[in-house]
Amino acid sequence: MRFLSKSLAFLILLSAFAVFSFSCGGGGKTTKYEITAELDGNTVTGEETVVFYNDTDNAFKELKFNLFANAFRKNAKRPPISAIHRASAYYNGESYGGIEILSVKCGGEDVEFSICGEDENILCVPLKTEVYPSESVKITIAFRTTLARVVARTGINENTVNLANFYPILCGIQDGGFYECVYYSTGDPFFSDCADYKVTFTLPEEFVLATSGKILESSVKDGKRTETFYVNSARSFAAVASEKFGVVSGNVGKTQVNYYYYDDENPEEFLSVAEKSLTLFNDLFGEYPYPVYSVAKTGFIEGGMEFPALTFISDSLEKSAFSEVIAHETAHQWWQTVVGNNEIEYAFLDEGLAEYSVVLFYENYPEYGFTRKTLLEASEKTYKMFCSVSDKLFGKTDTSMMRGLKDFGSEYEYVNVCYVQPCIMYDLLRTTAGDKVFFSGLKKYYREYFMKNATPDGLISCFCSAGADVEGFFDGFLYGKVIL
Ligand SMILES: [Zn+2]
Repeated sequence: MRFLSKSLAFLILLSAFAVFSFSCGGGGKTTKYEITAELDGNTVTGEETVVFYNDTDNAFKELKFNLFANAFRKNAKRPPISAIHRASAYYNGESYGGIEILSVKCGGEDVEFSICGEDENILCVPLKTEVYPSESVKITIAFRTTLARVVARTGINENTVNLANFYPILCGIQDGGFYECVYYSTGDPFFSDCADYKVTFTLPEEFVLATSGKILESSVKDGKRTETFYVNSARSFAAVASEKFGVVSGNVGKTQVNYYYYDDENPEEFLSVAEKSLTLFNDLFGEYPYPVYSVAKTGFIEGGMEFPALTFISDSLEKSAFSEVIAHETAHQWWQTVVGNNEIEYAFLDEGLAEYSVVLFYENYPEYGFTRKTLLEASEKTYKMFCSVSDKLFGKTDTSMMRGLKDFGSEYEYVNVCYVQPCIMYDLLRTTAGDKVFFSGLKKYYREYFMKNATPDGLISCFCSAGADVEGFFDGFLYGKVIL
C-alpha cells in the first residue's frame, strides 16, 4: 500500500485455456480456485470451488479461510478503517458490510462449518478424512458478501466498486499451520499462498471490470455482462468495477498493460508510468510473470494498493503524486505478489523494497525531475523529524522493524519504520556494497522466493551469497540499534 500522507519523503514536490487447466480431481500440484460471482447492487453472491493441494509435510484435519469482508460488519471488534480516516471513508455516514457463508460442501455432502477466529474472521471447515502431504481436497463454498458504502479495499464508492477480498481465501501456511489474519486498520493485514484462479463475474452490462486476470470470454445477455478471467500463481484475485471506466493499453514484452480511468484528460501519461515501471523492474529484479498488468483509478482512502496483476490508485491523489504511487505499487508486483511475505509480521520486507524501487524509478527516468540524492535527503529529513517528534512525545523512539502490525502506535510510526527507514537502509547498503552486489542480491532474492514466502533471514542470506557482508548491517536496522 502507499499512503496519502504528505509527511512522506517523496512528496517533496499463451493461450488462456492452455495455461489454466482446472482439475477438480485434485491431480495438480497447485491449489486452485474456481469462483463464480454476481454483483447486484451492494451484494456479491458467489460460489467457489477450492482444490487445496497440501504441499507441506503435515496432515490437515481442517481447512481455514480468511473472511476479510467480515471486518466491515456491524460490531466488528477491529474496525477496518483507522479513526483518522473514518469520517472521509464512510462518505455517506455509517455503513456496514460482511460475508455470510451459505453452505460448504465436500464430496457433494454438506459440511458443518464454523465461523471462528478472533473477530469472526475465519471460516473453519472440518474434513472427513485428513489431507496428507501431496494430497488434495475439494471444497465448494457458497457465500454472500455485502458491500458497505466505504472507500476501502472492499466497498462501494462514488465512481467504482472495489472488489478485493470479496470471497473466502485459504489462510497462508506458516510453520506448517494455517495463519489467521486479523484486519488491522494500519498496514496491509494479509498473508496468503499462490494459487491458480478462474473467476467468472456477472454484473450489469454497463460496468467495465479491471481485474487480476486475463480475460477468457465475455458475453452480454438480458442486460447482464458475464466475463471469465484467469490468473495462475496469484496470492489473491481482486477487481474494480465501474460504469465510468475508459481504458488505454500498451505492451511491455509479453505483458499487456492497462490503465482504467475516469476524469483523466491524459490517461496515456499514467499508462506510460506503469509501462516504464514494468520495463525497469523487469530489468533490475527479474521478469514479471503474469500476462496482464492493470492499474485502476478508484476511490481509495490511501494513495494506492497492490493486488496480483492489479493496482488500485486513489482518485483523490494530487496529480503530482500519481507517478510515485504507480511506481511504488508496481514494484509490489515483485515485492509482495511474486516474492511473498507475511505482511502482518514483516511489513517492512515488501514496503521497504517497494519504496526503494521508487528511488530507482526516478533515478532511471530523470525526466520526472527527481534525483537519487534529493530523494534520499528528503527521506532522511522525514525520518529524523519522526525520531525527534517521538523523542519529544514519548522520551524515546522505537525504530525496530522486526515487529508486527499490532505493535505500531500510529500510521505515522508505521510509515517511518516500514517505508522510510528501510529505504534509507537499502541506499546505504547499495553505497557500501556497490551496485553490482546490491542488484545481484535483489535478483537472487526474486529468483529464490519466486511464488514463495520470504523472511528477513532469507533476504539477508541472498545479499550474503551475492557477496555482501551484511549480517551485522541488517541486524542494526532490524532491531532498531542504528542511529541515523
Ligand atoms: Zn506499499
